Amino acid sequence: MLKNKTAIVTGGTRGIGLAIVKKYLENGANVAITGSRQETVDKAMNELAEYEGRIMGMFPDLCNPDEVAKSFESVKNKFGSVDILANNAGISSRTSLYDYTIEEFSKIMDINIKAVFVCSQAAARIMKEQGGGVIINTSSMVSKYGQPSGCGYPMSKFAVDGLTQSLARELAKDKIRVNAVAPGVTKTDMVAALPKDMVERISAGIPLGRVGEPVDIANAYLYLASDIADYVTGVVLRVDGAAMT
Ligand code: NAD
Repeated sequence: MLKNKTAIVTGGTRGIGLAIVKKYLENGANVAITGSRQETVDKAMNELAEYEGRIMGMFPDLCNPDEVAKSFESVKNKFGSVDILANNAGISSRTSLYDYTIEEFSKIMDINIKAVFVCSQAAARIMKEQGGGVIINTSSMVSKYGQPSGCGYPMSKFAVDGLTQSLARELAKDKIRVNAVAPGVTKTDMVAALPKDMVERISAGIPLGRVGEPVDIANAYLYLASDIADYVTGVVLRVDGAAMT
């Protein structure tokens, strides 16, 4: 579904990001993975060794426009284009309002919002020049109703939805589609580490009866990146088993 396309996946070293990377590689794309550190990028690259020649790793500061622009240009130079940007890197928090420090608040806003803006800008400049592309952002089920603690996280994901819908309208004339995927509780390392009975309790509250697997989210990323979603832009696609927070 993605033959001859090149994707950049931020936070592609583990969890949902790594599942997106694998899905894109299986479907024929070249993929550039960003991570926060050399070691995590190397670890992911080793895991994906069978795709040598179609993958590259990098770890720019996602909030630094110059570093990001340079990295994305290097992807274009290696593979010839940047067709898909998956803005997946993100962090969450459950800190109560009373305990929130301004440092923690800024950290969440930086990676969950500023980085999405910076990466979208760098990718869109390349995509406009080459005649089009696709940007997909990672929102969350909490971007609709909020959550009862850690208010910075839902705040940031509301912003991701706002950016998605605004850029969809702004960039349509340049043939750049912009969508988001809003996962529900998904079995990444953090959820996998929870006690079994807690996961069972969470699952019982989800109409489809289970937490999501990273591949469930990656499938939505595949659809939105592919040409069969050619007329889809400005959408926040929930992939959460109809869960409510
Ligand atoms: P994870 O912690 O397993 O992976 C996060 C990724 O982001 C890692 O690759 C990490 O290297 C990268 N990252 C974090 N901080 C970074 C920084 N400062 N600079 C560069 N990269 C950085 O998390 P995950 O569960 O796979 O989450 C991925 C995305 O999905 C996030 O945006 C998260 O908000 C969203 N999400 C996750 C769930 C869930 O239940 N797992 C639910 C809804 C939304």
